[in-house]
Formats: sequence, structure tokens, C-alpha cells
Amino acid sequence: MNVPITSLRGVGIWIAAQLKNLGIETVADMLLHLPTRYEDRTQLLSLGELQAGAPALFAGTLQNVEIKAGKKSSLLCLLNDGTGSIILRFFHFSPAQIKQLQVGSVLHCFGEVRDGYYGLECVHPEYHIHSETNPAPEIAQNLSPIYPTTGKVSQKLLRGLVQQALDFHPLPEKLPAFLLQQQQLMPLMQAINFLHQPPKNTPLAALGTGQHPAQRRLAFEELLAHHLSLRSLRHRVELAQAPILANSQLLIPQLLNNLAFTLTGAQQRVFQEIQQDLQLTRPMQRLLQGDVGSGKTIVAALSALQAIEAGYQVAIMSPTELLSEQHLQVFSHWLTPLGIKISGLSSSLRKTQRVKALEEIASGDCQIAIGTHSLFQETVNFAKLGLIIVDEQHRFGVHQRLALRNKGLQSGQSPHQLIMTATPIPRTLAMSVYADLDTSIIDELPKGRTPIQTVVIPSARRAEIIERIRHACLEGRQAYWVCTLIDESEVMQYEAAANTAEMLRETLPELRIGLVHGKLKSKDKAEQMQAFKERELDVLVATTVIEVGVDVPNASLMVIENAERLGLAQLHQLRGRVGRGAVNSFCVLLYQFPLSETAKSRLATLRETCDGFLIAQRDLELRGPGEMLGTRQTGVFTLKVADLQRDQALLHEVQQVAEHLLINYPENCEILIQRWLKRGLDYGEV
Ligand code: ADP
Ligand code: MG
Repeated sequence: MNVPITSLRGVGIWIAAQLKNLGIETVADMLLHLPTRYEDRTQLLSLGELQAGAPALFAGTLQNVEIKAGKKSSLLCLLNDGTGSIILRFFHFSPAQIKQLQVGSVLHCFGEVRDGYYGLECVHPEYHIHSETNPAPEIAQNLSPIYPTTGKVSQKLLRGLVQQALDFHPLPEKLPAFLLQQQQLMPLMQAINFLHQPPKNTPLAALGTGQHPAQRRLAFEELLAHHLSLRSLRHRVELAQAPILANSQLLIPQLLNNLAFTLTGAQQRVFQEIQQDLQLTRPMQRLLQGDVGSGKTIVAALSALQAIEAGYQVAIMSPTELLSEQHLQVFSHWLTPLGIKISGLSSSLRKTQRVKALEEIASGDCQIAIGTHSLFQETVNFAKLGLIIVDEQHRFGVHQRLALRNKGLQSGQSPHQLIMTATPIPRTLAMSVYADLDTSIIDELPKGRTPIQTVVIPSARRAEIIERIRHACLEGRQAYWVCTLIDESEVMQYEAAANTAEMLRETLPELRIGLVHGKLKSKDKAEQMQAFKERELDVLVATTVIEVGVDVPNASLMVIENAERLGLAQLHQLRGRVGRGAVNSFCVLLYQFPLSETAKSRLATLRETCDGFLIAQRDLELRGPGEMLGTRQTGVFTLKVADLQRDQALLHEVQQVAEHLLINYPENCEILIQRWLKRGLDYGEV
């Protein structure tokens, strides 16, 4: 079905390897490797017609060649054609080149024309010197595609391969004609042909927006393929048998009785939804969304109890060791009094401890295992796994979620799965990226929370903030100071945090200041967190390791540095670390002066609202879904053509078409998935 790229003429092992680096392994990949932009070489302009500010194809006779000395010497060539003139400027040039550029020769050039000191000029044009053996190149009939590539694969090679693919290996249309008509979609190969070689006079602007009908067609098909793959995954999981976990009569009432609080209405509702799922023979595949602090953990604990009372084990997976440690504490606090045995599988365990924990999990002695994704990477064998709980799933990325599910699908048996996320996702988007999951939403915060007051302050005024921390801490409160450096290495992050901690220790000698960062051993991290929780520290300086899930109710002040560089959803997550107790909480967003208008309005959103959904919507508008879902790095949703943000309007139709295809054309679905998602449903390792 997928023709390998090596079946194209001229593609041997070496080129195939280079193409693979570009993600091209099949002829279909080649056809879907679309240009990122186009050049218009369809019109040869006379020099009199040239205008600054645009790339152009032009020709003329060399009238003068000279080397201009200076700090940076350059080679200047004056070109004239009777209607006007232009200077070609080269900053890098070789003796051989000078020799070729004889006065009187005729040059054909392509390059960006701009205004220079002596009139129009063009820096480093591509050029072609005419001679009898080397006549003028033909003028292109179509816009010239510029493909994404690496230094090793030339545009020329790519163009040649695309041409071969277009000529000999067109992709079959997999959308029935009536659907094309109904959705006003261009036929597939018409769209592909067009995008590889748009006819002359196609306005470049029309292609730049990504809204051209040809682009729309491909975006539609790509989103459809992704949607179908998630749906088919869901379907496959549904075929598996899950253990029936009857409602708990004993453990759940006990835990509820011991709790210092009562569940909110929203918590009760979502737990009922989960309870119903757990009693079916079909594996639960449920996403639990709830804003930071909405109380997802207790819902997870109750779900775990239902599995345990039915005689099954539970695996709880978090994205970081820090969170695992915290879960271990919270779950132990709630569940050990009920006689439940919990194992934490952290990387700081000594070998003997680890062996013992693994044994207890394998024998069924311990009912809950808590860890990071290593829970599923290593040879952890469960005696009777009934439920997998994944916390803060957006940190894992879609890849891992799917891999995990595949892993659960052994021998037609599958545990139930509950996936929890604090990133509220707008509905249409959720329906597409989580097409494989049912959704429950906790849309209510526990009572007694006071909203966090957020202020936005230039970092030059940090002395005031430090004073404020001094006061708050002397009154018995605690504070976080979060150092953020985006796209910097962990080492740099660590240094920034360490310097800040040092500075605070000097300025606030009367306070006890701790430090956590990604380079600490998890045992040391856990120790610092514990000390902070037990009020042995007043201020905790942290990198963004603190971002997800950490819960210290007495901390009521948070300072976030370089706030303007973080996404809104991320800031909201961070800020959610405070405002968990009854006292008034503050969040100070420090920024580097000056702030752009957009940055101002973004930060203002946080000042104005604590509603995670609203913030997520704004973040989506401002930064796009990739950032928001944390999928940018993990790759599953690196879409080739579509853009979840730009093409949001297509998502609804995509769902309807998917529905129709699944029922009436199941074999087409498989082909579409293969075409767009190279590895189909095989998402590889966790
Ligand atoms: P998140 O949804 O962000 O994971 P947590 O589960 O960590 O939130 O809950 C935040 C805090 O709120 C915890 O200290 C938890 O014990 C507390 N909590 C949870 N549910 C309730 C409730 N119904 N009433 C009062 N406090 C609650
Ligand atoms: Mg949490």
C-alpha cells in the first residue's frame, strides 16, 4: 500500500537515509512533503520594472565590476539592460568568480531587490552567465516550490523526486465523491499537484495564509486521519476485556468518613461517572479534567479503592519524581489507615528496596504502585492490575498516553484507565485530540478558597517584593519563588535558581530558604519539599519542576520571574500552587521591562481571572494548541499541513466525516491513517 521511497529513480541507500531524516520514507511522504514557500520565477522583469522589497527574476549586461575595499570588502557588479540598472553585491567571493564576471557578459539573476546607496541592488543573487554553450535558462511556468530540507538534500533533488512521484505514483482518493462535494473539498491529487507547482499568477498571498482550497483539502484529510486513528485505537481497546470492579461497600465509605472535608458536588458527580465505567467489562478510558486545586487526587484515591476492594491492583503514574513522592505521601496518609499497602517505585530506592517492592507488586502483596513512567518501562509485573491512573497527563504527551494504552492491551485483557489533567481544553479541541477518551469535568473548586490576587510588576521593583515576603513569612506564612528560564538548559535553570536563593539568603537572613531544581536527586528534592511542607522552610526557591500538582496549603505567596516568557496556562498552573488554604493568597508576576502590548494584555488576563478554562481559551488563541497540549516536543500531533488553531473550524466536520467513513468505508479509514501517520497505531515505546 505504501510505496517505499527507494522505488523512485535515483534514490539509493544514502539518499534514502537523508530523506528519512526529513521524515520521508514512502512515496506518499514525498507527495505530502509540501513546500514551505514559493518563489515566483515565472516573469523575467526588465531592470526598469524592478521594485525594491520583492524577489525578482531579471537579466542584463555587466557594465562594471569592482571590489570595494573597506571594513568588509565587497564585490560590486553593475548590470544594465537599457531600461535601467541594478548593482549586484557580493560579500563573499572568490578569485575564480571575479574571473568569470567579465564586463560585457550577460547575466540572468534571481534575488531579493532592495534600495541601496547607489540605487537598486541585490545581495548575493543566484546568477547564471550566458554563453554559447550555456544558454539562458527557461522561464518557469509555475511558481517554484521551496521545500523544507537539510543541508544534505537539495531543492533540485526534491523537486525531481516530487515530479516522479506526481507522474508515476499518484495517491488514491479515499474520500467518496459525494463527501467531497458536500464538504466542498478539492480532489486529493488536484490539491497535491497544485501545491507542488502552483500555476503562474497564483497570488503568493493566497498560499501564505494556509487557507487556499488545496491546503484546506489536505488539512482536512490530515485531521481526519488523526481523528480516525484515535477512534480506531479506542475501538481496539473496547474489544478488550476489563475486570468488573463492583462498587465498594467498605473502603470508600471508610475513607469518606475519615476525610477532613466533604466532596464537592462536582467531585461526587465525576466519581459516579467513573464508578459506572468500572463496573463494565469494557475498559474505562476516561479523561478527568479539573482546574488546579479542584481536588482530582481524592477522586483518584476513591477510584483506586473500588479496584482494590474488588481484589485488583492500581498503578499511579505521574510525570515527575517530585509528584510521585507527593502522591506516595498523600495516598499513604489516606489509605494506610485502611490497611492498604502502597509501593513507591522512585529512582532513589536502593537496589534491595527496589527488589522488595517489585516482589510485592508481583505477588499482589501491595495494592498500589506509584511511580513515574518508569512504572511501565521496566520489568514491573503486576499480579492483578485492574486500574491505571495517569496524573497531569499533558506533561506526558500524547505519545506516551497511547503507548501506555497499547501496553495495557495484553492478551485481550486491559485494565481500566483514568487520565487526569489540569489543563482545561476547549471542547472542540478536546474532542479531536482526545477522540479516544470519554471526558469528565470537575467544574467547581472546594469551598472556602479565596481567589488568588495577582499583580504584575517590573522586576526592577523586586526589593519591594522581598520586603513583602519578609512580612508574610514573619507572620507564619510561606512563599514560593519560581525562577523560569525558557529554552535554557537545566544547568542554566539551576544556576538562576541557585543565585536567587543565595540573594534571598543574604537579604533575608532571618528566614529559612530552601531550593529545589531539576538537577537535585529525587531524594533531596523530596526532602526539601517535605521540609517546606512541615514549615521548616519559609521560602522555597524553585525552577519550574514545581509546576505540576505540588500541594502545600500554607504557602500563600508566589513570585514568578520572567512571567512574560511563559504561556498563560503554565502560569496558571504555577500559580495554582498557592490559594489552597483559607488565607488570602498572592501571586506576583515579575517581568523584564519593557513589556510589549500583547504581553501586557496576556498578563492582564491572569490578573483578571482565575478561571482555568477562560485562560486556556486565551492561551489557545495566543499561542496555539501545540504549546498548550504539550505535544510540541512529543511529535504525535506535529501535523504536516493542518494547524489545530488555524483549522479549528474544520474539526467539527472532520468528526462527522469520520463517523460516516467508519461505518461505511472502514477499509478507507485504514489507508488514510497509514498515509498520514507513518506508524499508524503502533506508537512504539513509552
Ligand atoms: P488538583 O486537582 O490540582 O490535583 P488536589 O487534589 O491536589 O488538586 O487538591 C487540592 C487540595 O484541596 C488538597 O489539599 C486537597 O486535600 C484539597 N481538597 C480536595 N477536595 C476537597 C474538598 N472537597 N474540600 C476541601 N478541600 C479539598
Ligand atoms: Mg494534582
